[in-house]
Amino acid sequence: MKRLVLLAVALCVVLTGTMAHAGKIEDIKARGALVCGVKDSTVPFGFIDEQTKQIVGFDIDICKAVADKLGVKLELKTVTSATRIPMLTQGSVDMVAATMTHKFERDDVIDFSITYFMDGQKLLVKKGGGVKSAADLKGKKVATAKGSTSEKNIKAAQPDATVVSFDEYPQAFLALKQGKAEAVTTDSTILLGLRNSDPEPDKWEIVGDYISPEPYGLGLAENDSKFRDLVNRTLVDLWNTGEYVKIYDKWFGKDTKYYLPLTWKMETWPY
Ligand code: GLU
Repeated sequence: MKRLVLLAVALCVVLTGTMAHAGKIEDIKARGALVCGVKDSTVPFGFIDEQTKQIVGFDIDICKAVADKLGVKLELKTVTSATRIPMLTQGSVDMVAATMTHKFERDDVIDFSITYFMDGQKLLVKKGGGVKSAADLKGKKVATAKGSTSEKNIKAAQPDATVVSFDEYPQAFLALKQGKAEAVTTDSTILLGLRNSDPEPDKWEIVGDYISPEPYGLGLAENDSKFRDLVNRTLVDLWNTGEYVKIYDKWFGKDTKYYLPLTWKMETWPY
């Protein structure tokens, strides 16, 4: 009898657990808000608007499109390159839109959407300082962000460089400005954001060939294919309706400080 009761209790615990995790879509709708993990100091992907003091940027607009598709509000939580995956696996955010490259290595712990932005890694250096490529960084210090792909890629491109990692890219840029590093390395558009939002952009230049390809994916919790389908459908709809180009042009278009021609196409599937 005692055994039977124990078995029934165990079964209840298992069932309640399963029901509580019916899926992200249900959780988000019940809450009435999509919690999106975004950067707050990576211009123009996620940064604080000086006037409104709100976090704005390309990644925020992508989050908004997913929230709209679900018919819920958008709630933002700040992440860094190092915290975004743990925050997703712990469930403190529903989705990560934070300049995150889709790597198979990261696929071991989280899932990704289709590619929604395409970039590659370069170097930001002092103009006329003599550094033109990774080859010139032998024995020199290179600054980047903790938990980024950039940390590993630069080591592979220049094993004799010393990588100094910071929580955020503006700190890495400060190290360059203070002469504590010879270069900042990460995705070219993030470097463009650092350079062109600086009061003296002409002192700095982005150099070298692309060190690596950096296709961005939205980070999603493992094994929730319904939510992943909805996110992918949102991205494909944005692309097909021309809304994607509008968002893209708002942040990276010709009239912005961060001009980057759109040279790639989203992988879209027929309806
Ligand atoms: N896209 C690269 C990454 O996912 C570098 C930018 C970043 O640190 O977010 O690591």
